[in-house]
Amino acid sequence: MQHGAAQAPSLSFIVSGALFSEAWLMITAVDGGYIVAFDGTEHRILRGGTVVIEEDEIKYVGKSYGGPVDRRIDARRSLVSPGFIALHSHICGGHGETGRRGDGSRRQLYNSDLFDRMFPRTREAARAAAELNYVEVLKSGCTTLVELGSPNALGDKEAVELPDRNGIRAYLLKMYGSGSWQTPDGNRVLYTNFDGETWDEEPGFKGLEESKAFIKEYDGSADGRINCLLGPSTVDMCSVALLRESRKAANELGVGLQTHVSQSLVEFQEIMRRHGMTPMELLHDVGLLGPDFIAGHSILIGGHSKVGYADPWRRDIKLLAETGTTVAHCPQVFARYGIAMESYARYLMEGVNIGIGTDTYPMDIIREMGLAATLSKIVEGEPRVATSRDLFNSVTLSAAKALGRDDLGRIAPGCKADIVIVNMNSINMSPVRDPIRNLVMSGNNGDVRTVIIDGRVVVEDGGVPGVDEERLAENLQREQERIWDMLPSTDVFGRTIDEMTVPSFKDWEDS
Ligand SMILES: [Zn+2]
Repeated sequence: MQHGAAQAPSLSFIVSGALFSEAWLMITAVDGGYIVAFDGTEHRILRGGTVVIEEDEIKYVGKSYGGPVDRRIDARRSLVSPGFIALHSHICGGHGETGRRGDGSRRQLYNSDLFDRMFPRTREAARAAAELNYVEVLKSGCTTLVELGSPNALGDKEAVELPDRNGIRAYLLKMYGSGSWQTPDGNRVLYTNFDGETWDEEPGFKGLEESKAFIKEYDGSADGRINCLLGPSTVDMCSVALLRESRKAANELGVGLQTHVSQSLVEFQEIMRRHGMTPMELLHDVGLLGPDFIAGHSILIGGHSKVGYADPWRRDIKLLAETGTTVAHCPQVFARYGIAMESYARYLMEGVNIGIGTDTYPMDIIREMGLAATLSKIVEGEPRVATSRDLFNSVTLSAAKALGRDDLGRIAPGCKADIVIVNMNSINMSPVRDPIRNLVMSGNNGDVRTVIIDGRVVVEDGGVPGVDEERLAENLQREQERIWDMLPSTDVFGRTIDEMTVPSFKDWEDS
């Protein structure tokens, strides 16, 4: 097609909804106030420059572009950033949990509520949560999402169709495990298909085969925007044989893996009892750790103050660093239970590659960045660590490294056109001297104005074109109310939702 040098581009042109379908075949120039440009080694701030996008790629970044363009996006009062990458999110779990988790836990299970708050699941509730969560995560500037579990909750086809429709870049995990948690009394955690010594291996291996089939079918689909990882669910729910076979399968398929590890004290003690090793040592022993492995959470490791297992040599952290494993750190979901990583900064100092995830709720990667920085500074008692620069690198370059993608997480010619435009001309962002610090310390998802993925505008003016957010919220409310009504018949203690998670205030009663 003709690129209209003759059509004098207007600097005041604001992206229109029509761009969603048209932008892909056009040359678009983004004129930015503060562009985070990659110099081949690190991010730099380019003040007053232009990023040029052609089809799904970045064509140019620099002070001024002399070539023809079809459209211009005015981002002169904004930060133009590489899209953020969330390394660990549960798109079907997130908003289903809003308003029911938090402000409570179970002391017998060391304040983890993974085990005694099992909710009934319905396909409709999973769908309502996923539809809403994809919108929320896009609105916080995530252009790539590592999603765990939606193929299990929605079925393979729908789990792929949803992110495809939303335009996001997704790495989907169809999770599997040898068994699952159950607690008969709220004091102990038992594992289905496990007699305390031996696993029934059949269900886990069946799950692995299904996951392999999912990967063969969908990895690289949707113009390469949908990819897959292998997902052995958690270190304590998988047999050693299943973990070993997972590594073999990943190597054969040429895909990475992610597992939940070091996410509860119960898990740490269980793995110690079974194998005489820390959970991280076990993952290393079975050959899972490595540059293609993402260790989800990795918080309650040897040496953590809550674990009660001294590790002055910091062996678990060193294992992560030496093997080139990436940690997916989700600070919010643990902070709700009084648990912090010890610490994000310490892991970085030891050479661990760390990315950030949103886990369940809220799906706001900007908020997670701020919280990760704040918690780490508190844990270390030192403001110079866990800097805004560190967190920004975590959600861009470090996360891209975890996925083996040197074409993501940076603005440079030849990279994917995954770009976020954050308004800096606002009450919470002013004044601007260091836009990265403003983003991490003062920003939230309401500051994101435009999100471009693969050259297409998927968030415009802070919203997803064509999406009725109120309808999504109403759907989720209705489906969750159904789940809450079902709860007493499925909960191990027969609790109502208000007994399981006590409301902040009692309901009003007329006297
Ligand atoms: Zn998770």
